Amino acid sequence: MPKIFIQKPIVDINGDEMARVLWDKIKEDLILPYLDLKLIEYDLSIINRDKTNDMVTKEAGESIKKNFVGVKCATITPDDKRVKEYSLKKKYPSPNGTIRNILKGTIFREPIIIKRIPKIVNHWNAPVVIARHAFGDIYKSKEIFTKKKSRLVLYSENDKGRHDEIEIHKFESDGVGLAYFNEFDSIRDFAISCFNFALKRNFPLYLSTKNTILQKYDEAFKNIFDDEFNKNFKNQFEKQKLNYQHRLIDDMVACMMKWSGGFVWACKNYDGDVMSDLVAQGFGSLGLMSSVLQSPDGKILKTEAAHGTITSHFRQHQKKIETSTNPIASIFAWTRALSHRAFLDSNRKLSEFSEKIEKICISILNSGQMTKDLALMCGPDQSWVTTNELFKIIKSKIIN
Ligand code: NAP
Ligand code: MG
Repeated sequence: MPKIFIQKPIVDINGDEMARVLWDKIKEDLILPYLDLKLIEYDLSIINRDKTNDMVTKEAGESIKKNFVGVKCATITPDDKRVKEYSLKKKYPSPNGTIRNILKGTIFREPIIIKRIPKIVNHWNAPVVIARHAFGDIYKSKEIFTKKKSRLVLYSENDKGRHDEIEIHKFESDGVGLAYFNEFDSIRDFAISCFNFALKRNFPLYLSTKNTILQKYDEAFKNIFDDEFNKNFKNQFEKQKLNYQHRLIDDMVACMMKWSGGFVWACKNYDGDVMSDLVAQGFGSLGLMSSVLQSPDGKILKTEAAHGTITSHFRQHQKKIETSTNPIASIFAWTRALSHRAFLDSNRKLSEFSEKIEKICISILNSGQMTKDLALMCGPDQSWVTTNELFKIIKSKIIN
């Protein structure tokens, strides 16, 4: 078949270990033979990040900002063991964090639903998409040890001096204290990201907080979302027959278990951290969880698989043992990036190609050809194929 022409480029960010092995295979087998596509490539392997003093990560982030579409392979976030393993000059920060700071976006995590694969919560037959506000709260908090008979006080001051002060607690024994913050501009960007994403995905949106307890802090989240919704999004939500609602976090947790999916859930930072792992487990496998980082206006998108570099499989691969590693979430990172490029450029052929690849993957899994992680979920009678075999099957369906 003739290659589909794509005028504008996609930023292709390569990574580490087994995820990198999958990455190269996806490009070689599923993308490059069919698309006349310019890739702007960045090598974010830990070796190259070290070589460039992590400049390559910043350049990759800036390039996504300029070109609007990026697709990223999983990368090692070094801990002490990795610093030793690769003799790194320093313990570099998470590339995802660096890129997120450049794009100032929101992360949406969405499971890929395959009918045949049993889920722990078996009535979830549409995605629960978790949007996490990745700014402030406990992740930027300061803690303090306090002594018996001390007073813990919260105060704020601006350039003209102190303007508010509240006593938090008088200690009767030794104890601990904590302070954290958020900024209205960041909450508003989060709200806009969530409304835009829900509209594009055609899902209703729920924001959860505990505003009955945090009547200033969490109430600010509710008010900013309400304000943005009423001013800028209400009409479009009505047109698409979608709703937006604020709910208490405990009520929302119960609804999530009761409902069958098919909604976007806007979570505060910590709630999003916890809920995204809970939802991933509820749907089954990390190999079926996709993740996108979207700028507030919905223009810039960085897609990736939610899993890491799958070190345990890479160790096998290094010993020349063929593995059964699930490439589906990484393939969907590519199809979602292509589909965003298609959306921005009104490229119908590209949009159809991206849909076709997703449908092929889903139908292959539903027909019972899958990797070991998914087969284990289906039960002892389910057979499995290696990664290379799965790629061969997918390839043969694209050609037909
Ligand atoms: P991981 O790479 O997600 O792997 C954890 C385990 O989950 C694997 O050992 C494997 O289990 C299973 N698994 C994950 N993805 C799979 C797939 N596609 N197919 C089959 N099984 C899969 O997490 P990790 O071991 O905690 O982290 C490894 C490295 O990845 C770390 O250096 C970390 O910094 C990095 N990381 C990067 C990102 C990112 O770039 N977004 C995210 C998370 C972690 P079995 O061994 O039981 O088969
Ligand atoms: Mg977490």
